[in-house]
Amino acid sequence: MNTRNLTRAVARLVKDDEEELYPGELLLAWLRGAGEADLHRINVFHLADELQVGRKPLLATFIRLVKQGVMDLNWDFHCTECNAVAGSHRHLSDATAADHCPLCDVDFRNTLDRNVEVTFSPAEQLYQVGRRFLADRKRETVALHAAKQIRLPDPFVSGMDCLHVPLFREMFESETLSLRESLQIRQVCIIFTDIKGSTALYDRFGDTAAYGLIRDHFEILFDRVKQHDGVVVKTIGDAVMASFRRPADGVAAAFAIHHAFEAYNRREDIRDQILVKLGIHAGSTIMVNLNNRVDYFGQTVNMAARIQSTAGGGEIVVSHAIRGDAESVELLRQGVASVTKRVVALKGISKPQTVYRLNFRGAERGSRPNSRITAAEATVAGTPVLLSAPATAPVAAAAR
Ligand SMILES: [Zn+2]
Repeated sequence: MNTRNLTRAVARLVKDDEEELYPGELLLAWLRGAGEADLHRINVFHLADELQVGRKPLLATFIRLVKQGVMDLNWDFHCTECNAVAGSHRHLSDATAADHCPLCDVDFRNTLDRNVEVTFSPAEQLYQVGRRFLADRKRETVALHAAKQIRLPDPFVSGMDCLHVPLFREMFESETLSLRESLQIRQVCIIFTDIKGSTALYDRFGDTAAYGLIRDHFEILFDRVKQHDGVVVKTIGDAVMASFRRPADGVAAAFAIHHAFEAYNRREDIRDQILVKLGIHAGSTIMVNLNNRVDYFGQTVNMAARIQSTAGGGEIVVSHAIRGDAESVELLRQGVASVTKRVVALKGISKPQTVYRLNFRGAERGSRPNSRITAAEATVAGTPVLLSAPATAPVAAAAR
């Protein structure tokens, strides 16, 4: 089967679509020259490296191609013993917590960011790899298995990567696990936010005006989460839960949210200020289906929510796990003047936890009248830790 129908379908999207298909002509040229080995289980990150284009933008393009009926998306489950693809599903709803590898004859558990790979295949009506190719591939796999030489692809698009493409969540909102299943995740970064004194807000402005403010707040939050490769998992009243693939993405989003609300509050009348309390944590969790949406469940999520509850209005509090993440620490060094370490008892969590409140530059100069970050409090409440060189932050608020 030649690739004519496939390239025609993509060419139509490159030419006619209002929204540009990235990287249109480059992708077309690749498709024209592609053979069965290229088009069988396309590894988009690998392809992005080959074409020298961004991995995430190309992944977003392939997700668009799925929506347009040009590509199919496969959830492939690699055996954790031998790395062979032991199971493949078109929909996440067909995935199970455990799978069986026929080559090893063992059962294994699936972890969304470890052995679950997302690959793409041309839609069957446009292109199909031949039976002979598939038979050869199968023989090859059996031989490699015997020699214990099957390797996980590197790089590869993991299930977590796919779930954190905002476009995937927008287009396939109902793409989630079946109700009874759960999938393990090695690491997810969770942000919880809430508005300080939202009940008083409704009381002061009345429902309609307050709702307008809350809508503004959601818009600011959702935009910043999306811009940093995050996904809004759900809203609970005025509170928001968002997830990120990497802790540093979560920290970057938190900074953006903080600065966006500072700017918003400077514009508005003082009574209309929106003070967001934000907490960040990262750790292992399980993914579940709650109300037909992707959701996360477990102690990492509980902890993130509890950490958020220790933040005051306009404050960001991060967990010890975030403070221990190298990329996040680098961002903290660049983005905040100091952090204030505190050991807190969190409801429902047995051991006291070390958390860190971020102190932004300028916070001590009264630019945010409602901010709870004051030099006196910081010194009393915990140990201030300088993060940046004195040259860029003459004296940290907390150190005064
Ligand atoms: Zn196996």
